[in-house]
Amino acid sequence: MVENKVVVITGASSGIGQATAARLAQGGAKVVLSARRAERLAETVHKITQAGGMASYFSADVTSMEDVQALAEFALKTYGTIDVWVNNAGLMPLSFLNKRKIDEWDQMVDVNIKGVLYGIAAAIPIMERHQSGHIINVSSVAGHRVGMAGAVYSGTKFAVRAITEGLRMELSPTSNIRATIISPGLVETELLTTITDEDALSALKSRGAAQALQSGDIANAIFYAIDQPERVSVNEILVRPTTQP
Ligand code: NDP
Repeated sequence: MVENKVVVITGASSGIGQATAARLAQGGAKVVLSARRAERLAETVHKITQAGGMASYFSADVTSMEDVQALAEFALKTYGTIDVWVNNAGLMPLSFLNKRKIDEWDQMVDVNIKGVLYGIAAAIPIMERHQSGHIINVSSVAGHRVGMAGAVYSGTKFAVRAITEGLRMELSPTSNIRATIISPGLVETELLTTITDEDALSALKSRGAAQALQSGDIANAIFYAIDQPERVSVNEILVRPTTQP
């Protein structure tokens, strides 16, 4: 059940994370929103509480284990426990490998992979204490197949799926800690704004536009995974727009 669960969500200042926070709060969860942009988190928390939900926020950069640990401690201090941790923060500066955008490769590895690992590291001790919990990691359709100019991004999203499967195998059988991969197709968010390689942008556009999903469509998938009884472990949900090949 979603109701009364304490849920930490990274990347909650926009897009999928923001919509997930609103959807879960509407279902009675106590949500802790996190990202770097505090003003945007504050605005969303305000909207959620105005609508009768329970929410608070903590500004953190997922590339810093210190920040992520402080986020976990804030959630514990605010709501007493953490039932669900959603590792959603991510970026997608697609580029062709021969452009040698080393800084962007570093950023993707740091946010999309290490950020997820840091979230897992912060959540595991708390969940092991209770012998239950749920870690949800946002991968992508790009975690299943590689698109043009998407070698590094896909590499990070394949890694997220591998890490989540390893987590499930290690923890679920003995501790009731569930692990879920969420793999969205194209969703209308701010994600494309991180692309600086013009050729990658043209390659993306020339693929033909599928009608994108809304962030709320993915929030619904995350809600579903959390809402199942503890005996049910939803291992992965892959959601594409109907018109995406
Ligand atoms: P957005 O760009 O709207 O959201 C990305 C979020 O990540 C923001 O809240 C941003 O907040 C946060 N973020 C980025 N860097 C950091 C950091 N260093 N520390 C903390 N937070 C950070 O994109 P989406 O909502 O689309 O992306 C959410 C997830 O969904 C990502 O993992 C993405 O890869 C995945 N995804 C998206 C798809 C799409 O088509 N949109 C498809 C498949 C997967 P801030 O800048 O305030 O820190």
